[in-house]
Amino acid sequence: MKRAVAMGIVVALVAGSAFTLWRVTLGSEDEPQEDDRRQVEHQGAEEQATIPKKAYLRGACDLPATWVKYIRRGWDPSPVRDRDLILVPRERNYVGTFTYTPHSGPYDYLQRVPMVWYGPNFIEDKGPIDPDREITVADIAPTEARILGFDWPPTRSQPPMAEALRKTDERPRLLVTISIDGGGLNALDEWPDRWPTLKRLMEEGTSYTNAVVGASPSITPAAHTSMSTGVHPRWHGVTSIGVRADNGDIVGGFSAEPDTSSAAVADPRINLDLPTLADLWDQANENDPLVAGVMSGNYALGRVGFGSAMEGGDKDIVAMHARGEWVTNEDFYELPDYLTNGVVRGPEDLIDAVDRLDGKADDRWRGHDIPIDSSPVLAEFENRALFELIEREKFGADDTTDLLYVQYKSPDAAGHKYNMIAPEQGDVIESVDTAIDELIGFLDDAVGPDEYALVVTADHGQTPLGLGGWPINRPEVVEDVHRRFAKEGVEARLIQRTSSTSFFMNKRGMRVQGVTPQEISSFLSRYTIGDNIPDGARIPEGYSERLDERIFAAVFSGRDLNAVVRCTGASD
Ligand SMILES: [Zn+2]
Repeated sequence: MKRAVAMGIVVALVAGSAFTLWRVTLGSEDEPQEDDRRQVEHQGAEEQATIPKKAYLRGACDLPATWVKYIRRGWDPSPVRDRDLILVPRERNYVGTFTYTPHSGPYDYLQRVPMVWYGPNFIEDKGPIDPDREITVADIAPTEARILGFDWPPTRSQPPMAEALRKTDERPRLLVTISIDGGGLNALDEWPDRWPTLKRLMEEGTSYTNAVVGASPSITPAAHTSMSTGVHPRWHGVTSIGVRADNGDIVGGFSAEPDTSSAAVADPRINLDLPTLADLWDQANENDPLVAGVMSGNYALGRVGFGSAMEGGDKDIVAMHARGEWVTNEDFYELPDYLTNGVVRGPEDLIDAVDRLDGKADDRWRGHDIPIDSSPVLAEFENRALFELIEREKFGADDTTDLLYVQYKSPDAAGHKYNMIAPEQGDVIESVDTAIDELIGFLDDAVGPDEYALVVTADHGQTPLGLGGWPINRPEVVEDVHRRFAKEGVEARLIQRTSSTSFFMNKRGMRVQGVTPQEISSFLSRYTIGDNIPDGARIPEGYSERLDERIFAAVFSGRDLNAVVRCTGASD
């Protein structure tokens, strides 16, 4: 229901011809959903009176209420997802391999993020605080709205982090939102001496030590959009990297095809249901504020917003890098010439500098090639673009507050490539910390120490190797489901697409095979490590005594989510 209300706000705010197509699309797909949703809620009401009869649902009812709260906030409630499965691997298990880990889930170690506000004239110097209420990344936008002195839509009900804010009638000239991609507290704590700048900001500003992402999957497009819209993915629509559209197709967060992070196709209209703080601030000030985002590919596009895709909106600057080049989608955003015509140097000279980190100019860093995205090269490359933008566009030069969004991508990229426990991650975290220090120095000079405010946070933590969890073999699960349920000689597949927290089910295949999501949930709830080892494969060392251990804490379908919310007592 909240989704319908939220869409109403969009319609009200962006009434106009350019949005007609978008509105009609949402509206026409909404109608059948409403009927379906009433049925779902009716079923839920019956289930409330009794503990669910099905064993797999009773298992889901043992999940911590906090996990279920996060899962609900990250789940699109549309009936198109009723048949899709929600996977909750037992803590420390993950869908991956012995060398590759994802970072999506409701677990504390993925959820906890830094939340550091700084700006001597606007932010209190309370140091680390731990207020007796939940703090999530969705609280950033309402806090920034408060700093701007701007009325935040009352339907987006997250309270601001008011205790961090000085009582003042002044407004900053520039507000900077920095995310360290993959810079959750567990990744930072693994390398405690490599981020002195962030520690200094935690002491000199106000730092919320209890901050969390607040939704699962804890994944880049979803969390960044929560930061800027002030609501969790259930309500803003950008739930993951692969998203089930209302017509049933699987699309990307900001692209018509899933897994497309390319800047050229960055399209905010695909899933984003709400205008962001930047969209609203621009609209309220006749596009006078400067708005820019510097990011990696299109996954963090949701923090800037619609640009000119919104009626009356202007082309904000969105600079997205891919392999050392700056690009954008020129349909809706602007990319200044000086980012592409050679004025901004690099990344070749930065690669040379990283090469020499170990004292030898041998084109190697810690014994291997020097990748741009997952090495200390990237943070400084990102900073060069930022400095050029701030100076040439005159960010923070007048009384209308400008908005700048920065995504430092390398900790996430290095975490996927080397893992967060590898020494490469320490180098990369230090490079981002140095970049933040240099950015602050630059802002002090270019804008003035009393004229800006900033926040540093992260979109998720990371999964460390070596904790003894089971890396869930995804192809083997998919094959085992098919083998268990497919009729002999009938090829129709049951699973359309997988992610680390959800299986997108093939509706037609399930009909042809005569299988329900409940049956597959029940099967996977009992699925063990032994089941997940392919026939004939060697049992990995350390697991021979654990073959009967169940892999998942729970598996249930989207249709079952309401029942699980009720039986766990999870509320929002
Ligand atoms: Zn990320």
